[in-house]
Amino acid sequence: MEVTAIKAGLVIDHIAAGKGLLIFNKLNLAALGYPVVLLMNVTSRRMGKKDIIKIENFTAVDTAMLGLIDSNLTVNVIENSRVARKVFVTTPPVVKGLFICNNPRCVANADPNVTPTFHLHDEKNRSYVCEYCEELTRVS
Ligand SMILES: [Zn+2]
Repeated sequence: MEVTAIKAGLVIDHIAAGKGLLIFNKLNLAALGYPVVLLMNVTSRRMGKKDIIKIENFTAVDTAMLGLIDSNLTVNVIENSRVARKVFVTTPPVVKGLFICNNPRCVANADPNVTPTFHLHDEKNRSYVCEYCEELTRVS
C-alpha cells in the first residue's frame, strides 16, 4: 500500500495491530482538523502486522495516553520530509484522568471536580492503583 509521505507532522509507528483505532478514538484525532491517516494491518517484518497513524502538521500528541495504550510504539517527528527525532513512549508512572476507576463507588467517578488519578502498580499487567480508593484497574 502506497501512502504519501508527509512533510511535517507525526508518524506513530509500530502500533500493535488493532490498537490504531483505539488511539485514533482516544486522542480524538478525527476532531483535530489536520489531515490524518490510519493504516491498519500493515505487514511488518518485526511484528507481523502493525498499525500506523500519520498526522500532518501536528506534533502535540498526548504521549502519556499513547504510552498507556501501547508502550511499544514509536513516535516519529517529521520535519522537512525527514524523521527529525523519535520519541519512545513508556507506560506512565502516574496517570490523571485518562481512564476511570474500576470501583463504581469511587469518589473519582462520582465527583466531577475530582480528577481520577492512578499510580502504576504492575507494568507487565498494566494495572494501576486508584489514588482515592486503592482499587486496582487494568488498562487495555
Ligand atoms: Zn478509585
